[in-house]
Amino acid sequence: MNLFNQALLRLKPALDHISVSDEFLEVIRTPERVVQVAIKIKMDNGRIRVFDGYRAVHSTLLGPAKGGIRFHPSVDESEVKSLAFWMAIKCAVAGLPYGGGKGGVKVNTKDLSIGELERLSRGYVRALWKYLGEDEDIPAPDMYTNPKIMAWMTDEYCVLKGRKELGVFTGKPVSFGGSLGRSEATGMGGFYVLQTIQKMTALPRSGARIAIQGLGNVGGSFGRIAAKEGHVIVAVSDSTSALYREEGFDIDAILAYKETFGSLRPVEYKNSELVEVDAKKITHEELLTLDVDILVPAAVEDSITEHIARDVKSKVIIELANGPVTAAADQILEEKGVIVVPDVLANSGGVTVSYLEWVQNRMGMYWTEKEVNEELKKKMVAATEEVWEFSKNRNCSLRTAAYSTALMKLYRAFEECK
Ligand code: NAD
Repeated sequence: MNLFNQALLRLKPALDHISVSDEFLEVIRTPERVVQVAIKIKMDNGRIRVFDGYRAVHSTLLGPAKGGIRFHPSVDESEVKSLAFWMAIKCAVAGLPYGGGKGGVKVNTKDLSIGELERLSRGYVRALWKYLGEDEDIPAPDMYTNPKIMAWMTDEYCVLKGRKELGVFTGKPVSFGGSLGRSEATGMGGFYVLQTIQKMTALPRSGARIAIQGLGNVGGSFGRIAAKEGHVIVAVSDSTSALYREEGFDIDAILAYKETFGSLRPVEYKNSELVEVDAKKITHEELLTLDVDILVPAAVEDSITEHIARDVKSKVIIELANGPVTAAADQILEEKGVIVVPDVLANSGGVTVSYLEWVQNRMGMYWTEKEVNEELKKKMVAATEEVWEFSKNRNCSLRTAAYSTALMKLYRAFEECK
């Protein structure tokens, strides 16, 4: 089964809890638009090369499409279609006035010089700009794209359009219309989700023991704020190693070391110097099955498999990565009573601050980081409470509740304009 049909399967459990018409189902199962383009760019050696580019829009029932652009060898039509579908669900769960979109280029960026990367980014926009726009389809960074690439793309778009329209891309550098707080937003949003869940459960409000798989951008900012709020990060990992320390890690120190030396080391600050502390090396699998209060997969998809799910001991899993729990593992975790906070809710802080960036671009007025974080918190708390309530009322998992609430919002919009 291709990726897009697999993604659609996620709708099935939600349809046991809500009642929608067949005509709506037909609409919501069908992408509104998928465009494939050939992007021709001149390489540094003077030769022309052609790259496959895509942009899919799944649904614009709730507003213009929103979703990233990835530069990766795996990009194809089925991948962008399934990711656009997920964005439609995620934006609806987060209560944003957006539909879902996704795009990409089939390329390994490691093979490109910086000049070739810029020409490819601008070429993507030249091929697709007629389909993009502040009120039409608003891309953002995704795998192997970044704020610099968004700046090139926005600039190219504005040249072609003949006017400044900064809100057409989000995730831009702060000096070029980006929002303060965007780089921390996904981890920060995940923490607000956790805080909201803590109020509804017996989870400790402070001093919870947390294991984080993947101390990158998202896992690192989540770890930083969780530690600052009094929780104990007892285990961390990256693609090369995993570490455990009963007393907890100094996340700021570990991130500072990683930023400078590129690897994970058990360090802490002593008189402003980084010094090594005792920690146990564990395997990646051991990290996922530790006896902790909260497990935070923030690395890659499918890391919690059926086999691992059987040994998971944490009470709560916060899916900061996209799709870290396989469908079979999800079933086992539900039977074990583990609370799994689904990716479409847990990691929606990133797209929420992208929305706030778009709002600021269109208002022409910019907020402080504190103001951005307050807005982010309001939206994350509201989305979490809505999903939690549905799950309690209908006695279903948070994932089913998230998909159900999203589908109901899409259904209501469909019915209103029918
Ligand atoms: P990143 O590249 O900054 O960090 C990923 C980290 O995971 C790295 O430290 C890497 O070494 C580590 N890692 C990779 N494979 C691993 C493995 N098998 N075991 C342990 N660690 C491993 O990426 P990121 O931006 O932090 O994104 C992480 C996840 O969050 C991805 O699934 C991404 O799709 C999702 N996500 C990111 C955002 C965002 O705003 N960046 C938004 C929504 C979802």
